[in-house]
Amino acid sequence: MVLKERVAGFDVGKKCPKSMLNGPCGGVNNGMCEVEGQCVWVRVYAKLKSEDNLDEFTKVRLPR
Ligand code: SF4
Repeated sequence: MVLKERVAGFDVGKKCPKSMLNGPCGGVNNGMCEVEGQCVWVRVYAKLKSEDNLDEFTKVRLPR
């Protein structure tokens, strides 16, 4: 399953190598993805926190 909707403006479905739907996997380390680059879910969290919109982060995204 790939998340097709954007979250906080990020195309998580394309940026996360594991296609995580609801936040970072256990492989994130100090904000970095275990595969490559910065974890997109960490970027999503930082952006939503800066917008005081963490309710959006905790919203459950179901596979389609
Ligand atoms: S560290 Fe983040 S970007 Fe990398 S696979 Fe895990 S959830 Fe996806």
